[in-house]
Amino acid sequence: MPSLDDPSMMRAIIMDHYQYPRNKKEINDESYDSVHMDSESCVDDFQIYLKMDGDIVKDVAFSGVGCTISTSSISIMTELVIGKTKAEALNIIDNYFKMINHEEDYDKEILEEANVFQNTYKQANRIKCATIGWIGLKEMLEKEEK
Ligand code: ZN
Repeated sequence: MPSLDDPSMMRAIIMDHYQYPRNKKEINDESYDSVHMDSESCVDDFQIYLKMDGDIVKDVAFSGVGCTISTSSISIMTELVIGKTKAEALNIIDNYFKMINHEEDYDKEILEEANVFQNTYKQANRIKCATIGWIGLKEMLEKEEK
């Protein structure tokens, strides 16, 4: 696997997910939960969809419009959590927030391609963009717990 610490590689991965977002589709299916997320500081305006199968994240998708950072971060997120258990998905999300908040002790391994956002903490105005979809998914997963 090429190094995700290489800035040009990080940019290339972000642009690829922005131009060809994974799991971006409108969903009209009552078996999905969904949440609307938007931003006052950016064009980001998304619907995030979640379908569980028991304890397994069966599908995650999104629709709407957003900037490069928000769109690519949600696209990467969908690939990371589909097929995982709820606990695994929440663990990935928690480690992603730790990375974004520039805490030291996060698990780099499980974040895979999401490591391309490891320098986002240096741009405070992009943190909202990089987390908007992840916050929405976390809300839905935690609601599932009740
Ligand atoms: Zn944005």
